[in-house]
Amino acid sequence: MASTESLLGFVERHPRLFVLTGAGCSTESGIPDYRDADGEWKRRPPITYQLFVGNERARKRYWARSLVGFRRMRHARPNDAHHSLVSLEQRGRVVQLVTQNVDGLHQAAGSQNVIDLHGRIDTIRCLGCDRRSSREQLQRELEELNPGFASLDAVEAPDGDADLDDVAFETFEVPACEACGGLLKPDVVFFGEGVPGARVQRAMAAIEHADAMLVVGSSLMVYSGYRFAVAAAGAGKPIAAVNLGRTRADDLLTLKISDRCATALSVFMM
Ligand SMILES: [Zn+2]
Repeated sequence: MASTESLLGFVERHPRLFVLTGAGCSTESGIPDYRDADGEWKRRPPITYQLFVGNERARKRYWARSLVGFRRMRHARPNDAHHSLVSLEQRGRVVQLVTQNVDGLHQAAGSQNVIDLHGRIDTIRCLGCDRRSSREQLQRELEELNPGFASLDAVEAPDGDADLDDVAFETFEVPACEACGGLLKPDVVFFGEGVPGARVQRAMAAIEHADAMLVVGSSLMVYSGYRFAVAAAGAGKPIAAVNLGRTRADDLLTLKISDRCATALSVFMM
């Protein structure tokens, strides 16, 4: 198994990094991962965009679970993996940080140059008029409208979701957009929904300016992240990955560190 010292060597040889982070970066902040070491679902896959938009019961169920799950998400704090990446950026080593996480913890840690590939869970978007609003505000409204649900506890799941079964979701009330009455949705990319093209293009452009790619805590099982590894490899840029378990890009990797993100990246702490 490759050592963390070899990661330090990799970064010294390739000083301008395109960094892609995933759920493994945030697990030590108390935000659980969806996938196990083999890249398989640990629990039921998350709701799809099509189901959220097309099925009222599924949508109510999503919000009821999210009401509970968001509590942990909003209290999560950056861990040493996030802090190490801030340190790398401050030394001018990060051309671009792209994250698949929606928790905002890279920015909370102090990273400046971040692309939130899958959006942000602390922001709400109206599907009717595209108006953005605060999740904190909606959280308060959801709690006021659904006092019975607000007191429920549940097993926390990723993305501010929670496992909550055997509850009558039909009674759950979700406010509509104040401006147009449209459907409100977390401003995150759901499964079955494409990542906005401009976001992908910005990230792809950054790969051209990088010497190498560093993957942190992602199995790259989802194409939205995997494509950057394919692009980097195609451009002849070496790729290093820190991840517990296999990644979809294992065949493309120059260096693989099978360790916890905070541990492996601690070599970069100033
Ligand atoms: Zn609206």
